[in-house]
Amino acid sequence: MTDNTQVQELSEPIWQDILGYLRVHYARLVRGWFELLRPGPLASGELQVLAANTAQKRYLDEHCLQAFVGAAQAATGHLVTVCFKALAEDPPGNELPVGLSGESLPLIEEYSFDNFVVGPCNRLAHAACVAVSESPGRAYNPLFIHGSVGLGKTHLLQAICHAVLARQKQARVFYLSCETFINDFMEAVELGTLHTFRYRYRHADILMLDDIQFLADRERSQEEFFHTFNTLYQSQKQIVLAADSPPEQIPSLQDRLVSRFSWGLVARIDQPCYETRIAILRKKARIRQVEIPDAIVEFIASTITTNTRELEGAIAKVVGLSQAYRQPVTLQIAEEALGSGRDRRVRRLTIQQILEQVSRDFGVRASDIQGKRRTKSVALPRQVCMYLARELTSHSLEEIGGYFGGRDHSTVMHACKTIKALCQEDPHLRQMLEQVTGNLQRGSP
Ligand code: ADP
Ligand code: MG
Repeated sequence: MTDNTQVQELSEPIWQDILGYLRVHYARLVRGWFELLRPGPLASGELQVLAANTAQKRYLDEHCLQAFVGAAQAATGHLVTVCFKALAEDPPGNELPVGLSGESLPLIEEYSFDNFVVGPCNRLAHAACVAVSESPGRAYNPLFIHGSVGLGKTHLLQAICHAVLARQKQARVFYLSCETFINDFMEAVELGTLHTFRYRYRHADILMLDDIQFLADRERSQEEFFHTFNTLYQSQKQIVLAADSPPEQIPSLQDRLVSRFSWGLVARIDQPCYETRIAILRKKARIRQVEIPDAIVEFIASTITTNTRELEGAIAKVVGLSQAYRQPVTLQIAEEALGSGRDRRVRRLTIQQILEQVSRDFGVRASDIQGKRRTKSVALPRQVCMYLARELTSHSLEEIGGYFGGRDHSTVMHACKTIKALCQEDPHLRQMLEQVTGNLQRGSP
């Protein structure tokens, strides 16, 4: 048992457990900057959690206390409470936008247009965001950005905030997660302060709502947002929304919202291609002021293919390991850093395992997938195989085509494109793919 009166330091693994627990159980609350939080002393059963600034502390106090307490108790196995402390005051000139009085999420400094790498996967979304930041309410209204997790939606939204505030410090820019909107709304209903709530949101110059998919099944919040939207729209105030799928695919979103969300511009962000991944890695390394040789950048870019956030994690792992060894970053270190856990499994997958898993999960015979038949029931799983082989193994297009029924490289390229596009439109297929990849990574029999 812990002696509650002693001052203790939390070990790094336990702290990581706490963060891990939050990611699993409170994914909606977790923000990128949580990784920068540090554990303070644990004294008399109270754990201090140190935030970088008061804006972060405010967010933690308002939304995350219970979550942290639950996580700390789960990770330590003891009854622990949590208090948040800010290490620094917000620097002057860097205050939260006026009128936000705390309900805006803290902006992340790094999420600027300068730090955003533009590639074929995000060109339209990026251009639209720049245009909106230059003439809010005029360029595209509303602007709706969608794409799967970790592809830069939040980064772009916040870049708009930074750009607008840089030019016009007094602009009433509201950046918040949809959850915050919902929570504020429910609180206002409970406390009978709806008029304040409405005044606040309906007097924004720019309203950005992130992760709008959380409006699913929230009837009353949808209703409220509908009116917020109308008021802002009518007075030509800019609305920017981000979600993990296009408006019409957000479950149980009222038709009138679906239609309004599509009035302006709907722009999708796709997974970054190899060249973009390389550019992002270089940019992130520069921001973190670490030198990473080209060969290793290329290695990371070909190992991690789907999610930009994971690219960043890879840099951290590689650099962390090289520091631990007090050695420069070498390919060997990179392989060791990324070769653990899931990634090693992914890299070691064989094309045969992919074939077998897809055959099982899609209920199609492996011999049919490798055969010549072109019926739809076989063609789709075959394309999925090609796509996964491309993503998860290092075989060339020719090899992959050859393996799946003697097809040429352009067929494989076409398959990869098709599956990527289908995944964006078809949540069912996306789910199937996640299932197959999950099974592969777990090495399911
Ligand atoms: P999302 O909101 O779509 O889940 P985020 O905006 O949180 O994704 O992005 C995840 C991470 O990847 C962030 O650290 C962001 O800076 C980075 N990122 C994503 N796309 C790009 C890009 N094109 N250029 C630079 N960084 C990017
Ligand atoms: Mg996001």
